[in-house]
Amino acid sequence: MTKTLDESAVQSADNVWTMAQSQLDEVARLIGLNDSVHKYIRYPKRILEVSVPVRMDNGDFNMFTGFRVQHNMSRGPGKGGIRFHPAVTLDEVKALAMWMTWKCALVNIPFGGAKGGVICDPKSMSMQELENLTRRFTTEISIIIGPEKDIPAPDVYTTPQIMAWIMDTFSMQHGYSIPGVVTGKPISIGGSLGRDKATARGCLYVIDEAMEALGIPVEGARVAIQGFGNAGLHAATLMRDRGYTIVAVSDSRGGVINRTGLDVDAVIKHKEATGSVSSYSGGDAISNKDVLECDCDVLIPAALEKVLTIDNAPKIKARIVAEAANGPTLPEADEILHDRGIMVLPDILANAGGVTVSYFEWVQDLQANFWEEDEINQRLKRIMTRAFRETYQQAQSYRVNMRKGAYAVAVGRVAEATILRGLYP
Ligand code: GLU
Repeated sequence: MTKTLDESAVQSADNVWTMAQSQLDEVARLIGLNDSVHKYIRYPKRILEVSVPVRMDNGDFNMFTGFRVQHNMSRGPGKGGIRFHPAVTLDEVKALAMWMTWKCALVNIPFGGAKGGVICDPKSMSMQELENLTRRFTTEISIIIGPEKDIPAPDVYTTPQIMAWIMDTFSMQHGYSIPGVVTGKPISIGGSLGRDKATARGCLYVIDEAMEALGIPVEGARVAIQGFGNAGLHAATLMRDRGYTIVAVSDSRGGVINRTGLDVDAVIKHKEATGSVSSYSGGDAISNKDVLECDCDVLIPAALEKVLTIDNAPKIKARIVAEAANGPTLPEADEILHDRGIMVLPDILANAGGVTVSYFEWVQDLQANFWEEDEINQRLKRIMTRAFRETYQQAQSYRVNMRKGAYAVAVGRVAEATILRGLYP
């Protein structure tokens, strides 16, 4: 007898893909999701694994493995970033693709969910090697991407320059410029104003909403940020400008804490000069892990998955945790934080500003008509505020945490599209 997908699924306690599926399963029960639809949306629609030969600077060539996963396209083309990281796995990319489906549905933009990844260590590669890798990876996945099919974007360790190479490679293969194939591009080749800061800006807007809902004043509120890449760095400056005090930041090499507030511009200069925030002298050293437990009002995990666990959840001091990273909280930690009265703004809400401005970028590219930054930020604010309120309302009415509230909204929208379209053939 043939095994169903359920029977052959490998289960493992802290596997992110299992975690993503169980988050969906719980909400399916909560909202009474139609059984057939539930089965349908538990699995990715399409998985492509590619081998990527790359000529290295020493003349040899190396083989890399890459993935593009399209989870669901009921509401529109696939959308989601590409990460370059040594720890990328297919299960991780599957989870990230599923989270993109819910994220796009939550902010109600007409995209499905997808994600890509290449197992590599970009920090040890030259620009030429990165370009070679990007161009060949793009070529290998070109059969399933395109402005109407699936639109990649930046993610962990991928940059606007890398998006430019993706756009150029795809365009050269088709014989004309196709800026809408990828978002997060440099402005001069069809990128959008505001896209670089969009993830952090969206995060700020939902934190502001949460502060208001919980009656915590912004003035004097202390913020700790784990991760100082695109999301973490911009979150530090935008939150500082809004009146929050940034007390601790960290990156993979370590962190720094100053209870009276860090000089964010000086920290950024230090990172630019040394490659890390870790040895910055305007505060005390703290590990990348301990930043999570430091004394603060708002904690922003802005790095990688699975950092909030059953071990540190009881020690978190923040009142709000805003997930700028994807998947930082394990399900058991989620329960502990909720029971302790800490509001977790889930990834699909807290970091949805990035994909929202990616959507604006794609619309501008298709129309060849570009908007002012003010207009972009205003539209972003409207969308993020609405998504927060819809999430909060669902969380209140089901008496559940904000993640389940957000899933209730998002899964409901994907289910509606799936039912309306019906099963082909
Ligand atoms: N990588 C980002 C995310 O996880 C952005 C995706 C996009 O802009 O398509 O949401």
